[in-house]
Amino acid sequence: MKLDSYWLDTAPPLLSACEGPVDGQADVLVIGGGFTGLSAAQALGKRGAAVTVVDAGRIGGGASGRNGGQVNTGVAQDFVALVAQLGVERASACYRAFSDAVDTVERLIREENIDCNYVANGKLKLASKPHHLAHLEKTAEMIRREVDTDIELIGRERIRSEVQSDSFHGGLLQRHGGQMHMGKFTVGLADAAVRRGAKLYENAAVSAIVKDGSGYRVTTARGEVRAKQVLIATGPSRHGPFGWYRRRIAPIGSFIVVTEPLPPALLQQVLPKQRAYTTTRLMHNYFRVTPDSRLLFGGRARFTASEQPSDAKSGRILRDGLVAMFPQLASARIDYCWGGLVDMSADRLPHAGQHDGVYFSMGYSGHGTQMSTHMGQVMADVMDGHDEQNPWRETEWPAIPGHTGKPWFLPLVGTYYRIKDIFY
Ligand SMILES: Cc1cc2nc3c(=O)[nH]c(=O)nc-3n(C[C@H](O)[C@H](O)[C@H](O)COP(=O)(O)OP(=O)(O)OC[C@H]3O[C@@H](n4cnc5c(N)ncnc54)[C@H](O)[C@@H]3O)c2cc1C
Repeated sequence: MKLDSYWLDTAPPLLSACEGPVDGQADVLVIGGGFTGLSAAQALGKRGAAVTVVDAGRIGGGASGRNGGQVNTGVAQDFVALVAQLGVERASACYRAFSDAVDTVERLIREENIDCNYVANGKLKLASKPHHLAHLEKTAEMIRREVDTDIELIGRERIRSEVQSDSFHGGLLQRHGGQMHMGKFTVGLADAAVRRGAKLYENAAVSAIVKDGSGYRVTTARGEVRAKQVLIATGPSRHGPFGWYRRRIAPIGSFIVVTEPLPPALLQQVLPKQRAYTTTRLMHNYFRVTPDSRLLFGGRARFTASEQPSDAKSGRILRDGLVAMFPQLASARIDYCWGGLVDMSADRLPHAGQHDGVYFSMGYSGHGTQMSTHMGQVMADVMDGHDEQNPWRETEWPAIPGHTGKPWFLPLVGTYYRIKDIFY
């Protein structure tokens, strides 16, 4: 078993990153080479800006290359709860922003000719308990009435035509959305940014940002660069001078296992529609079939950071979960196991704008493959003076109470969720 991301391991190599020191002058310095940063570099380059992207590690080596492979519409949190929190109008605007984000991914794939196995077959949210179906029914009614008619409630009697498992009592299908190979999308987006003139540097962690005249001087592990504007696209960064952001983000580990390639007939029987799937538990699972017929199965598993021994432990929990859900796959070998950090905000909404003159976009809370890509494009507009394009501009972003930058509270939150899940 490889303790590595399947997406990164099976992606084509990135040949367009720069050798040599980071130096000189840029119109925009983007910190972070995930989907937010790469998408912003593509959009800014298209406008003629000289863009430099620096990443602390490998381009796409953060959440963008380590996720569940789903490109879903709909907000991270439950729509009924969001309406209660923000009112119908704002909640619907958030939902529409996620739908626009799926469109952005599809447009970029088309425009930049990115070969990433994109399939638009929607997401099915599966009710793990009988009363969860009643809640999905209420949610479906509200979503259909307010914001999206392209959804369907699948009752108990039909759920086995979607998923061959005893674990589910029905589900909510949102058709707008899909899935793709995240490693191929990363490399395709990075190459597109380079074609638009961007320079990409790996292993160039930023350690300081200093105001310098009308611009900024940014120190990286590979040298110093001056830039007129800076975009922070670091997700739940553990490096560098980003304490203000760290106090607003809880870096929560999420873990994934991927089986060996399985007989297509077996997968066709288990998951005939091959959609993106999530479950309704608080400690939920998500799964899908990969382009080469493996089952990818992920979940929170444990409230802890992601590092190799912890990933392996989480992998064993996930494997047990997979077999409990799909006993037909009990003999499937696990070929990959890895983890990544989700940039969870307290309100589970993205946050983007400007702080101390520096631009930022993050806080996608586990629903960011589409939104980070979208926000990269949006931030190019915002940095060009079009703040009105930012769907999150009116969202307050206070620090998480008691969060000093180190997530000491995660084990407590994990225990709380595990207990709550029993009664939920
Ligand atoms: C296990 C897992 C499963 C997920 N599944 C899904 C899913 O199925 N669907 C979905 O929509 N979303 C999912 N997500 C979330 C989604 O992957 C992210 O929201 C999205 O990729 C965020 O992109 P980003 O560019 O903002 O951040 P990242 O991809 O994390 O990129 C940030 C980059 O910044 C770099 N960086 C950090 N600090 C510094 C520094 N000081 N200097 C330079 N560079 C720095 C990092 O090295 C990293 O490469 C998942 C996330 C995880 C972890």
